[in-house]
Amino acid sequence: MAILETKDLTYQYGVGTPFQKTAVEQVSISIRQGEFLGVIGHTGSGKSTLIQMLNGLIKPTSGQVLLDGKDIWEEPKKIRAVRFRVGMVFQYPEYQLFEETVLKDVMFGPKNMGLSDTEAEAKAREAAEFTGLKEELLQKSPFELSGGEKRRAAIAGVIAMDPDVLILDEPTAGLDPRGRDVLLAQIAQYHKARNNTVLLVSHSMEDIGRTADRLLVMSGGHDVMLDETKRVFSRGEELEKIGLRVPQITKIMQELRSLGCPVDGATLTVDDALHQLIP
Ligand code: ADP
Repeated sequence: MAILETKDLTYQYGVGTPFQKTAVEQVSISIRQGEFLGVIGHTGSGKSTLIQMLNGLIKPTSGQVLLDGKDIWEEPKKIRAVRFRVGMVFQYPEYQLFEETVLKDVMFGPKNMGLSDTEAEAKAREAAEFTGLKEELLQKSPFELSGGEKRRAAIAGVIAMDPDVLILDEPTAGLDPRGRDVLLAQIAQYHKARNNTVLLVSHSMEDIGRTADRLLVMSGGHDVMLDETKRVFSRGEELEKIGLRVPQITKIMQELRSLGCPVDGATLTVDDALHQLIP
């Protein structure tokens, strides 16, 4: 069942000015309840504009966003409730930390939703655990944390609001390879435990190939593919035409499969695949 749908969704910046630019054009997609959807595309392909429309942060120039079948702009006064249900982690979210302690920062969202201090703290502690923030960090100032810890604190702040859909815009940007792997694993674990819908925006095919059930490929403001990750990766030539490269590991897996090796899934490592080939 679809939790979020778009119908002919279009967004233009600077309408009526010399800088008018169509960032998203006629996008009609359906996002399933509980899926982990990767959103991939080059810089400027319209990913950020699209997701900002999905949580009602910006209003479409034309077309619709439906949450549980209902147009989110039907009652503009209720748009705040949509933003709580569709939680958004922006790029470099650590720049938005501002409270005295990490705990207060993570509690900010749930308190803003109207929860009591006790309820907000319980949500915040649970969210901090999901993102791997250690207990002793919670009483520190956010400015005392490392870059990776700040990122986790900011993500915890959105998770603490218990969104039905969690959207993360390039959550691993600027992290080292280990930090990236750990964070992706934590997001995957969160998705599995909560069984809610996650949208992960990335320009890294490697990152997205490891975690997403399905992929939405954006190019020039259009939704050019929306399919299971494996099926999108099998369309290597089409992807190359829009400047995207299938991860090396996936290519190796495809080769092995064509040789009759019973490998499956885009998440296997080369080691796993070779073990299957040479037990
Ligand atoms: P992505 O997230 O894939 O990098 P964006 O949604 O940020 O893509 O951008 C899509 C297009 O819209 C790009 O051509 C970009 O230059 C343009 N754009 C984005 N934000 C603005 C803005 N605030 N004003 C004008 N044009 C913008």
